[in-house]
Amino acid sequence: MAPSKQAGRLPLVDLNRQHANLKAEIDEAIARVFESSDFILGGEARGFEAEFAALCESKYAIACGNGTDALELALWAVGVKPGDEVISVTHTFAATAEAIIRAGGVPVYVDVSPDTLLMDIDLVGNAITPRTKAIVPVHLYGSCVDMVALMELARRRGLKVVEDAAQAHGARIGGKRAGSFGDAATFSFYPGKNLGAVGDAGAVVTSDPEVADLVARARDHGRTAKYEHGFVGRNSRMDGLQAAILRVKLRYLEGWNQRRRELAARYRFMLEDLPQVRPVATHEGEPIHHLLVVECDERDAVRKRLDAAGIATGIHYPIPLHLQPAFAESPPLSLPVAEKAAGRIVSLPMFPEMADGDVDRVVAALSDAVHALEVAGRR
Ligand SMILES: *Cc1c(COP(=O)(O)O)cnc(C)c1O
Repeated sequence: MAPSKQAGRLPLVDLNRQHANLKAEIDEAIARVFESSDFILGGEARGFEAEFAALCESKYAIACGNGTDALELALWAVGVKPGDEVISVTHTFAATAEAIIRAGGVPVYVDVSPDTLLMDIDLVGNAITPRTKAIVPVHLYGSCVDMVALMELARRRGLKVVEDAAQAHGARIGGKRAGSFGDAATFSFYPGKNLGAVGDAGAVVTSDPEVADLVARARDHGRTAKYEHGFVGRNSRMDGLQAAILRVKLRYLEGWNQRRRELAARYRFMLEDLPQVRPVATHEGEPIHHLLVVECDERDAVRKRLDAAGIATGIHYPIPLHLQPAFAESPPLSLPVAEKAAGRIVSLPMFPEMADGDVDRVVAALSDAVHALEVAGRR
């Protein structure tokens, strides 16, 4: 018998499709940068800063070299000094802890909530000491930490808040944008993010003119005027090419995020018939579903079966930071919710160009995988 026609492989994200759809506009943006020869910051970066700040409903955006630098610079600019404690989570990308430590901060980790896998705000109060200076909530997977409650706590205790919004471009909670709550917020435009450059890029967003000014100078050698340096800065500037391409993509971001919400709703609906697989909860409001993460038993075996069915998956993230050699403390820290989740989570394909039928295919393959493993387990 002739083999049935195999559906193509479904990737976790598909940037080729996104870029093919935008090719004419991207080519024009690139041509504009070559005409101006503004290859570092310049007019395109200034334009992007204004447009991105508007999206975030904040006063200022400062374009940086990447999201990790942006977080480090923001922590420095809000006043984190060497030895200051900074409360954050370990169920996140390494950059969160790296930036805190590079800024001179001492990370103090709290566990995450079992339903959302976001910072458990109820644990933050007990983690505060006289040395605490700041809190870094991470809006992981495009879902927001309860910023109304967190800001209330931070203000009451006199602490700064820097939102790690690297995965939350345009998300809303309590009617406000991710990034518009804290003293500052930071974004990454790593290519696979909801708003992605074609290389490294990042930004700090703030409504505090002093923080904005400090970051704007720090990313550019502490410059006060050409060849005048007020303090020791660094080089973390956005390329003109990245800014020009980000301006093209920014016009599509809200539409893309809306499509992600539709796809997430379909995943959720289809998964109701498969109680063995639990979608990680998102906040009420407008999450942007950077990743579609579910929890299940026998995660690695399930992934293997999905791979055999032509469906790519990921794990965000397989090892909590407090168990990584780079960030481990002694005696070792125990954060049971983060540790348990790391062994059960799997990220499913999620990108705006996906068809409804792609979701159905993933859920059907998941159902086959879970049931086959149950039968094997009973034997
Ligand atoms: C991507 C990411 C960063 C870092 O961004 P880069 O631009 O890669 O430096 C920081 N925090 C989180 C949660 C991220 O997902």
